[in-house]
Amino acid sequence: MRTSYYSRFTLIISILMLTRSCNNRQTIEGVLIENVTAIDAKNGMQEQTTILIKANKITKIGSTEDFKDIEVSNTIDGTGKFLIPGLWDTHIHMVYDQDLTPAMFDLFLLYGITSVRDTGGEIDLLTPLKQEADNDTKNTPRLKIAGPLLDGVPTVYNGKGRLPKLGVSVPTISAAREQVLTLQKEGVDILKVYEMLPPEIFTSILKLADSLELPVTGHVPLSMDATEAANLGMRSMEHLRNLEFAFVKNWDSLKISRRTMLENQEQLSGMKLRSNIHDAQRSFAFANENAERKKEVLAALRQNQTWQVPTLTIITVAAERFFDTPEWKETFNLVPDTVGNGWASRLEKYAATPVSPKFREYADWMFKMIAELKAADVKLMAGTDTPIFFLTPGYSLHEELALLVKGGLTPMEALDAATLQPAKYFNMENELGSIEPGMLADLILLEANPLENIRNTTTIQAVIRDGKVHDKIALDQLKKKLENL
Ligand SMILES: [Zn+2]
Repeated sequence: MRTSYYSRFTLIISILMLTRSCNNRQTIEGVLIENVTAIDAKNGMQEQTTILIKANKITKIGSTEDFKDIEVSNTIDGTGKFLIPGLWDTHIHMVYDQDLTPAMFDLFLLYGITSVRDTGGEIDLLTPLKQEADNDTKNTPRLKIAGPLLDGVPTVYNGKGRLPKLGVSVPTISAAREQVLTLQKEGVDILKVYEMLPPEIFTSILKLADSLELPVTGHVPLSMDATEAANLGMRSMEHLRNLEFAFVKNWDSLKISRRTMLENQEQLSGMKLRSNIHDAQRSFAFANENAERKKEVLAALRQNQTWQVPTLTIITVAAERFFDTPEWKETFNLVPDTVGNGWASRLEKYAATPVSPKFREYADWMFKMIAELKAADVKLMAGTDTPIFFLTPGYSLHEELALLVKGGLTPMEALDAATLQPAKYFNMENELGSIEPGMLADLILLEANPLENIRNTTTIQAVIRDGKVHDKIALDQLKKKLENL
């Protein structure tokens, strides 16, 4: 009887042990970032937050306590760290320098740029890149493309001499129509209009784009006024280009004289003609801004929700020369040698010349405009124009954020311009731009608080792209790979 009592006893113990193991923490495939400070432009700062990522989405957010019953295959201790949405560079050129093109996706990823908007290049070169990005979402940034700049005659970026062929000329309404329909078939996400377009062709492109639901970005054509372009439905304007002409009291007579210059072009190249017109009017416009008129123009930009992409990096680079620092030059090791060596030697020559007062004036105006656009509640997006003018892909976006803060944005507003605003621009705010359940897991883990100092966006510990964690070790390997190119 004793034996039977004993065996019954062991049976009970085994059952108890079995139940215990069933109650044990359940293990699931995913990523758990524990106890991190999450920062986004929609929800602000959420301290001591734990975030669960399954496949490529954020599925649950809560406190550490909320996750105590599950074990996640990849758990990251976020204590003392900061999590922000993946960054966008909304003004890049993938095919501006084809020696650099093969390194660009990796450079963006290395610096936490999980989405980019290409604002001009040959469509035949861009579509294979877009395909590559679409097929390898965990290791490349999301790539949105415009295809070539739709320009008038003469075309600015015509591919002659040292100029890359970023533009195509659409001399008639029917040519413009044909070009737009071709680009739509090729799968562009947006269209980009350029400075030499006459008003009637500009208008026809905007109408057709609207019916095709393609947003139009670009430069305000020299033949037009910024308010006209905004009222016709341009979704965004790059570099605040040609806005200054709209701010003077006699803006209409300035416009007439620009048109006269465009008509009497006398065989000038597009680049030369454009710079002649800028030289003739820009400084005058800066010196003759009219407060009332400016208010009207900014109100038109706000009412039409016309995003501005100031690209402070490219516009202020010649005056600010932020590239002339050891940190910046170090990034030249990450671009292919043929490109990096060229940059280093050109930079040296460039840095030896004094800053032109014309560049200083332009940069000062740009910085002043950031505060004014903010005050007028005009939408902003962060973009650089990389890789033009020694602007290292990826790295330069962090400079853009710092320059936006220098211009008067708070660090949170600068982050907004590089995360939530681009998501809204592409109608993706339900998928990107904030840290919430249901959102795509494009995130950056930082060592230091970007709200205390915007430069802390470079303290990258991990980049999460489409749910895949690229941790410090992986990022260092990526860096080594780039150094060896
Ligand atoms: Zn550009």
